[in-house]
Amino acid sequence: MYERPEEVDLCDVELVDGRVLERNSVGLQNDAGDYLGRVWFFRDITSHKLLESSLRHIACVDTLTGEMNRRHFLECANAEFELAREQQYPLAIVMIDLDHFKKINDCYGHAAGDKVLESTCKRWRAILRSNDLLGRVGGEEFAILLPNSDLGATRAVAQRLCQSMTGTPFNLDGNEVYCSISAGTTLATAEDESVKDTLLRADAALYRAKRAGRNCIEVA
Ligand code: GH3
Ligand code: MG
Ligand code: MG
Repeated sequence: MYERPEEVDLCDVELVDGRVLERNSVGLQNDAGDYLGRVWFFRDITSHKLLESSLRHIACVDTLTGEMNRRHFLECANAEFELAREQQYPLAIVMIDLDHFKKINDCYGHAAGDKVLESTCKRWRAILRSNDLLGRVGGEEFAILLPNSDLGATRAVAQRLCQSMTGTPFNLDGNEVYCSISAGTTLATAEDESVKDTLLRADAALYRAKRAGRNCIEVA
């Protein structure tokens, strides 16, 4: 049997019943170099693929809110930053921190706090566009990247996010509880070396919003 490396043909085949097979084949020749045919090998790698995709999900998604975790947000934000620079469209960042969130945990319990975080993301998802990136970058801290958004549009989005919190209470064990947010926004500039610079500026604006008394938006 003779195997020429360029004839090895490895690929995954997805079956209609959901199974995934790894397909490999090699051409056969006899000692005289005559082509004898091809042998195909199939290996069921369905469980391997399922494990792979569940590990990828665990590595990228925040289990409580279903949004991106910090690591994955930074990865995607960086790619979006590079694209915006290449294609020259504006890109905005909004950093958000829930106000006095510790009080919610203290008064209603940690599970109630979790419910607020989860519902908050649902409210925001209804406001954001499908290509806006939302990440939970800390316990009760979130980062949003808005591609193709100028300062006016970004401020308007941030205001709608704030109103989604102050306009409707969360129902925690029959209690109507409000939770405001503080936000810092900024646009990526030509001087920003990476998206980290933009995020740091938005973060500094967020802390100005906190110092200004909370429940407000600061623009950098
Ligand atoms: P500030 O307005 O200054 O932001 O006040 P704060 O109380 O929101 O800020 P602080 O950083 O003191 O508290 C944040 C709290 O968020 C403390 C922590 O227990 C809570 N927290 C962090 N992660 C989670 C979580 O996953 N679930 C719940 N329920 N609480 C969390
Ligand atoms: Mg807070
Ligand atoms: Mg915080």
